[in-house]
Amino acid sequence: MDHLSNSTANLFSSVTVDRAPEYRLSNEELSVLADSTNARFLPVLGSQVLVSSSTTGYAVAALTRSIFDAEFHPAGPMIYLGRFNGGHHFAIDIEPASSAHTAGHLFGDLRQFAPLLPDADCALLGYTRAMVHWQRTHRHCGRCGTLNEARNGGHVMRCTAKDCFRQQFPRTDPAIIVLVENGTRALFGRQAQWPKARYSTIAGFVEPGESAEQAVVREVSEETGVEVVTITYHSSQPWPFPGTLMLGYHAKAGDTGIRLNDHELDEAKWLSRAEIEAQMRDGTFVPPTPTSISFRLIETWFDQNAATPLRVLRKTYSELET
Ligand SMILES: [Zn+2]
Repeated sequence: MDHLSNSTANLFSSVTVDRAPEYRLSNEELSVLADSTNARFLPVLGSQVLVSSSTTGYAVAALTRSIFDAEFHPAGPMIYLGRFNGGHHFAIDIEPASSAHTAGHLFGDLRQFAPLLPDADCALLGYTRAMVHWQRTHRHCGRCGTLNEARNGGHVMRCTAKDCFRQQFPRTDPAIIVLVENGTRALFGRQAQWPKARYSTIAGFVEPGESAEQAVVREVSEETGVEVVTITYHSSQPWPFPGTLMLGYHAKAGDTGIRLNDHELDEAKWLSRAEIEAQMRDGTFVPPTPTSISFRLIETWFDQNAATPLRVLRKTYSELET
């Protein structure tokens, strides 16, 4: 399938990590792996990941056991991620006061580094960050409050109370994101706290008891008052900040009147391609970052009928933002 190939996959999704779940099953085997020369460690400091910087650019910093042990103190159990570039990779939470000592290594916000990293590294670091965040926020049982222990290579957190043993699994929260069209125009919104002139597509979490398609209809109606009549699936994107799966759609609107019903958006408006280009030129419309599925939804629509692709316009008119 076309959208599964690396050239068209959304950032943070990648088929280059072999999760090798068979290794999660044996603690003994995992600890042998973790001590082997093939083991690589990806520390997470708060919400920051470790990258290496060199004359050839940025890359994931995957540490050997000896370098990791010399520089950092674990703040949580190791999480087995899988095979990548021939090594067995482990994510690990580290003590808050840590800093990188190796020359060229630095901790940073993955959102900011994402455009600078190879796609495969980005996906590995997104997976790393999401797993560590999940494990860190599931240290106790959600039913009885007893301490959990990590099992299955860190992919299960299980309650240690003998009469409970409740298991929790890595969590990802589905959210919908949708570009709504009507004729030659598309619907954009902005929240008050976003950077100046930033507009995006409509998005929101899927709620219990509804399908993703129903969430599209509901979110668009709640946020803009616009009625969606048809929906087409585009693609999905893991968004590891901290653990969302964005389900991307294109939709067509019936009624186009805008009412900001739930006040989540500060403003919503319909724009044609020509209006978008004009507003990008005068700095009153800045699209979402190209690493996001939101940008790709807009781009797919925009480039169907535009003399200049959206990416080119963005490079021409937008300041370099990440
Ligand atoms: Zn429990």
